[in-house]
Amino acid sequence: MIQRPRGTRDLLPPDTRLWQAVEGVAREVFGSFGGEEIRTPVFEPTELFVRTVGESTDIVNKEMYTFPDRKGRSLSLRPEMTAGVARAWIENHLGDRSQPLRLYYIGPMFRYERMQHGRYRQFSQIGLEIIGADTPLADAELLAAMHEFFVRLGFLDLEIHLNNLGDPEDRGRYQEAIRAALAPRRAELCADCQRRLEENPLRILDCKVPACQVIAADAPGMDELAGDASRQHVAKVETHLQRMAIPYVRNHRLVRGLDYYLRTVFEVVSPQLGTNTVLCGGGRYDRLIADLGGPAVPGVGFAIGEDRLVEVLPARFKDAVLARPAVYVVPLGEAAQTQVLELARNWAREGVPVEVEITGRSLKAALKRADREGFRVVAMLGDDEISARTVTVRDLVAGDQSAMPLADLPVWWRALTPVSPPARRGNV
Ligand code: AMP
Repeated sequence: MIQRPRGTRDLLPPDTRLWQAVEGVAREVFGSFGGEEIRTPVFEPTELFVRTVGESTDIVNKEMYTFPDRKGRSLSLRPEMTAGVARAWIENHLGDRSQPLRLYYIGPMFRYERMQHGRYRQFSQIGLEIIGADTPLADAELLAAMHEFFVRLGFLDLEIHLNNLGDPEDRGRYQEAIRAALAPRRAELCADCQRRLEENPLRILDCKVPACQVIAADAPGMDELAGDASRQHVAKVETHLQRMAIPYVRNHRLVRGLDYYLRTVFEVVSPQLGTNTVLCGGGRYDRLIADLGGPAVPGVGFAIGEDRLVEVLPARFKDAVLARPAVYVVPLGEAAQTQVLELARNWAREGVPVEVEITGRSLKAALKRADREGFRVVAMLGDDEISARTVTVRDLVAGDQSAMPLADLPVWWRALTPVSPPARRGNV
């Protein structure tokens, strides 16, 4: 038996319905904020990620799927999307368009992760990037779109953690301060962090090893050492969030696992998953496009881990999506067999979700299945119905049965299943 590679998953129905629903909400919310979808290749030149995500990050160091193609060029499966979006922005001259651009994406990313719960080697991210605006208002709009997405899914208990990473000019000073604070405890750090202490001390704050986290708690916060410009920037973002009553907490140890961020950085954590399992991460990256050889264009964005999101979806949203409010159409007899597909198609054209019984089950077996599968309605078509141009419908929830003209079924169905009101407002 051939098995799927470790760290990958088969997403099966009915779970795929949850994925589609989540993606539908993302398209709707991000679209309503002026977002447009971007799709870039799943593999890119390795160099792209080395130069953006950063050579000393775990993602590039340990987790990339890197391979030579047949001509010996080094390619990598994308471990994240922002680098590809920035590359596409430059390559397609998106700077010629009216700025800013709000670009959202949904798609698979790849990281050779150590296996643990909630970590996959192929996983899906839903993200939004606002490119071409360097204002605090842009950060706040991005966070508002993200918050709205979570609210529409019915989340009530997520936490937004926010920090100021300072400007690149501040970075050296900050790295030095961390190094000075943590050097005396060098021997207690994990092997990776001992290396990080020389190469990129900031990354120590990010380490998942519990002992390192305890030691990192002694490091100074970035905001204390950041310059005025970035402090004022992030303070304004906070003012906008407060104005919209979007709750957040300041977390001075939040540094993110990628090198390109500056100023505003944030994560969304779920109490259900614990603070080590982050649902969404993002921040500002004003130098990224210039670092790739493009013009100096600012950007800010986030990526939500769709796999983890689906795992912790609120029950209300899940139940609504997984309910199967369809009409199960059961043809009984030859005449009905010949007409059933045409009828079902006509009903479907009027917006009725239908599923035809195509295996030839008896009525008794079909009713049993309807019960088991949670259908809302069974529509029965026998010879009597065919000659009278009617259909007999049984509402399995109400438990009653009636006959009606074929053409009336869509209207009856709509009365039975009114559109549900939008999810209750939460305080994500
Ligand atoms: P990052 O690009 O590392 O900030 O990741 C953004 C989000 O993607 C994280 O907050 C996770 O929810 C999700 N994510 C990252 N890596 C994985 C993984 N290996 N498996 C599942 N989700 C992931």
